[in-house]
Amino acid sequence: MKSGDKKTLVVANWKMNPSRADDAKDLFSGTQKIAHKLKHVETVVCPPVVYLAMLGDMVTDRNCVLGAQDTFWEHEGSYTGEVSPDMIFSTKARYIIIGHSERRAQGDTDAIIAKKVHATLQFPLIPIICIGEETRDENGHYLKIVRNQIRTVIDGRSREDISRIIFAYEPVWAIGKNAERPCTPEECKDMIALIRREIADVTGSSELAHTISILYGGSVDTENVANFLQEGDADGVLVGRASLDAKTFGEVLKQADQTQT
Ligand code: PEP
Repeated sequence: MKSGDKKTLVVANWKMNPSRADDAKDLFSGTQKIAHKLKHVETVVCPPVVYLAMLGDMVTDRNCVLGAQDTFWEHEGSYTGEVSPDMIFSTKARYIIIGHSERRAQGDTDAIIAKKVHATLQFPLIPIICIGEETRDENGHYLKIVRNQIRTVIDGRSREDISRIIFAYEPVWAIGKNAERPCTPEECKDMIALIRREIADVTGSSELAHTISILYGGSVDTENVANFLQEGDADGVLVGRASLDAKTFGEVLKQADQTQT
């Protein structure tokens, strides 16, 4: 649960959907209709990059803004197929998801993710860094993997930079239609505590560790969103499938808003 008057962040990751621009406009305006009414939630919609400029023209306030799903680390040059943070910033996008498990599966290592975070922080853009283990083992090796994912991106960074970062704990086994099962709120709470401890260890500041927003992602829907925000201690959620239908996502947003009252 968030401290003070910080809003709950609800991030929609549309992935490679929808395939038609008109459907993207409809989904975004349907999302905006609900998002604009909420007092305690900031909604971030992350569409495919080709829709960012078009949807940017529809953005009217801070309640419902845009983010990209990935970025490259160079500013410009001969990098076929890549999109730089500069280009993303030139649309109205203000967030970038970095290190999503589907990008990691395509070859993004922790070192590559650190370069993308560095490039993103050169702009008034907020990186949402996805971390999380593929599987859980009885020896707790997965904890080391998550700690390393955190360390690689924050080691050597200034406190000011670190304070702008958002982490999203996304256990890979809980994501998508092939998910084993959703994470439980207790498992979520434990991992969020571990992430804060790791940030405190690296930076030497538990105060900084407690101000950083940590989201949960993986099979979030209308049934479980409130549990992740309340018992799970998450500052917000990252939503995949349930963000692709404006009515369902609107319900997720309303539930998130109500956990703050
Ligand atoms: C995701 O892929 O980041 C995600 C959270 O997906 P879903 O909500 O569909 O599990």
